[in-house]
Amino acid sequence: MDRMLIKDVLTNVPIGTAVEVAGWVRTVRNHKGKNPLSFITVNDGSCFSTLQVVATPTLPNYETEVVHLTTGCSIIVKGKLVESPGAGQPVEVQADEVHVVGWCDPENYPIQPKRHSFEFLRTQAHLRPRTNTFGAIARVRSTMSLAIHEFFQSRGFIYLHTPIITTSDCEGAGQMFRVTTLEPGQEDFEKDFFGCKTNLTVSGQLEAEAYACALGRVYTFGPTFRAENSNTPRHLAEFWMVEPEMAFCDLTDDADLAEEFLKYIFQTILERCREDMEFFNKWIDENVIERLENVVQSEFVRMSYTDAMEILKKANRDWQFPPEWGKDIQTEHERFLTEETFNKPVIITDYPASIKPFYMRVNDDGKTVAAMDVLVPKIGEIIGGSQREERLDVLISRMESLGMNPDDYWWYLDLRRYGTVPHAGFGLGFERTILFATGMSNIRDVIPFPRTPRWAEF
Ligand code: ATP
Ligand code: MN
Repeated sequence: MDRMLIKDVLTNVPIGTAVEVAGWVRTVRNHKGKNPLSFITVNDGSCFSTLQVVATPTLPNYETEVVHLTTGCSIIVKGKLVESPGAGQPVEVQADEVHVVGWCDPENYPIQPKRHSFEFLRTQAHLRPRTNTFGAIARVRSTMSLAIHEFFQSRGFIYLHTPIITTSDCEGAGQMFRVTTLEPGQEDFEKDFFGCKTNLTVSGQLEAEAYACALGRVYTFGPTFRAENSNTPRHLAEFWMVEPEMAFCDLTDDADLAEEFLKYIFQTILERCREDMEFFNKWIDENVIERLENVVQSEFVRMSYTDAMEILKKANRDWQFPPEWGKDIQTEHERFLTEETFNKPVIITDYPASIKPFYMRVNDDGKTVAAMDVLVPKIGEIIGGSQREERLDVLISRMESLGMNPDDYWWYLDLRRYGTVPHAGFGLGFERTILFATGMSNIRDVIPFPRTPRWAEF
């Protein structure tokens, strides 16, 4: 008899089958009296549901062990799958054997069977995956990861691993973590491990462009680091980013890809994570399923930055940051557009060149660049992308006007010297996407072990 996952026992196994499962006890109810009986619910992480196990004194260790089980104990159960006479679950297992693998001190176990605050659970990040919420997040995160690979691979994109330690800073993407083996106080980078200043990557984009300009379509999916001291519910110091890059494409192709991509991953979790999504909808955010269905079915709004500014200026509002052409679109503006004006995702294009990085393609008006941000309700910016400047002379003069030294980017400029092509791509913040998908409100709760200012425990 092979060990089975509870998700399979609950969905794929005929009544009467002998089964063996292994997991952690969620609850125990011991009935004493004439016909003693114990109901043990077990979860093994394979799905949201628990499996009910019924144990009786015919088990040799019933009195010595089974009745002493508590929340958190690990057990292996062998028995027969039967229809459950009780309400609440269609099937249960009549135990022939219950092996206690690990006891769990009920006095000190931090994850008692009751509701805990997310703040408390952050201090128990090693045990919080045993709760309903964090188990569901982990499964949705995993399913979304697979959906991301499926989406790109089925469209001919090649998965690319870009370096985690880099010398390029993708100009302005965020503050960087220095990587060094120098002793504190030493400043001679010649003597440093790499013989130069290095940092953790803030984006794999520049390297992805090199591969797109050879393989046509590539994507990265990996960790990204930003030392920005922004203690917000939407920023992490270490987060995961998905960065596709396509050659022979323009900004419209880029926006089309972003829209199709978001729809695919949300559709996938609606289909494959039904139980987890129903849990989020019931306990975390009562509109989350509807919001996702709305995104999957809707046609995203597309409008220029200039038009968006007009809408914002006309809105009769007390803004914290009054909208003004040339200034960045703030979170309050993003939410106004996606939640109040359109009630669906909005793609804003063609931002002022002055607020965007050097690599974005300059439009014919000379003032704006071919940038796009995808904004969604509740979160705001979830994707940032652009068509890249493919004209060598324009790119060099833009770098110079920003005070950058083109020699530092010699290899990036080579891509424009030798067989340059129009190309475009974007970056999707994976955790922001999970926030949107689950209805969770703090980004620290959708990555297993968050890294934020003054917090790197575990
Ligand atoms: P923001 O203005 O919200 O800080 P950004 O403009 O710095 O975002 P980009 O440099 O365009 O963001 O990065 C691409 C995507 O990565 C963003 O759309 C967002 O989803 C995500 N992202 C950026 N910074 C962080 C962070 N510190 N933590 C988690 N996700 C992030
Ligand atoms: Mn940022």
